[in-house]
Amino acid sequence: MDSPEVTFTLAYLVFAVCFVFTPTEFHSAGLTVQNLLSGWLGSEDAAFVPYHLRRTSATLLCHSLLPLGYYVGMCFAASEKQLYSLGQAPEAWRLFLLLAVTLPTIASTLIYYWSCDQWARHPLARTLALYALPQSGWRAVASSVNTEFRRIDKFATGAPGARVIVTDTWVMKVTTYRVHAARQQDVHLTVTGSRQHALSADSSLPVQLLTIHVASASPGVRAFDIRAANVVIHQSLGDLFLETFASLVEVNPTYSVPSSQELEACIGCMQTRASVKLVKTCQEAAEGECQQCYCRPMWCLTCMGKWFASRQDPQRPDTWLASRVPCPTCRARFCILDVCAVR
Ligand SMILES: [Zn+2]
Ligand SMILES: [Zn+2]
Ligand SMILES: [Zn+2]
Repeated sequence: MDSPEVTFTLAYLVFAVCFVFTPTEFHSAGLTVQNLLSGWLGSEDAAFVPYHLRRTSATLLCHSLLPLGYYVGMCFAASEKQLYSLGQAPEAWRLFLLLAVTLPTIASTLIYYWSCDQWARHPLARTLALYALPQSGWRAVASSVNTEFRRIDKFATGAPGARVIVTDTWVMKVTTYRVHAARQQDVHLTVTGSRQHALSADSSLPVQLLTIHVASASPGVRAFDIRAANVVIHQSLGDLFLETFASLVEVNPTYSVPSSQELEACIGCMQTRASVKLVKTCQEAAEGECQQCYCRPMWCLTCMGKWFASRQDPQRPDTWLASRVPCPTCRARFCILDVCAVR
């Protein structure tokens, strides 16, 4: 099979996939909607919001035209099928043409709907409207976004199809058809995943990619995920200690509660059940500074860790793990090796 029909189909398929997903080579060649329509779209730096209102619409329309482009191309590549004359075209091709015409029609209708009332119905405008003060509209918010985007200290990263932009007050994600925006002061960030890549395009060092879920406290603002490379997340010293504390307790011997005894809620937080018991395991019973605690399990691991941390010298974190503190209930001294998880 080496007909022009097959060749054209394959070539068009490759073109369409690259046009939609725009690999770096296509970007360098300028074969993207942004580049082809740059005159009409204007400059992103000059007016971020208007630019993306137009860009998302134009992208949607251009992509929806791809099947029609294929049909037109096939009129020439497979001229024996007589696709240019509707009456003679095979049934399947007429169906395809119907689909190819329907897609841009739907896209144009949607774009027309978005553009009504000076773009007030576009998803981005609607998101911004959620942040508008009652006396002003979404345009006031948009102009503050534009101003912040122009500043030199904004942070922008990521592939063109999923750019992440952080300005003084906004976290935004720019995708092919959408722009997500959330105001920093009311977002809640959660790290939901991390992936280690051995190699990256621009350095020979391994990169860690974190997936961060951005959820806004404002109702109506859609949550979104952003990907960022080599993010350093600073934990407070307390959090860091609790994590280390928990991992050390994990390797200590466990303590089996007698079946007659029932575990009660932790008396520190009342949120979870007691989960640790202090058993002197670091040394022989009569040796060392640690003492045996005879209290029943009353604390959860986190509360015990917080108690342990609270008795430390904040200026000397290096001594924390090796120190001894009194049991919160009976004052018997214990070290980390004596904290046993209850089974
Ligand atoms: Zn607790
Ligand atoms: Zn005790
Ligand atoms: Zn001890």
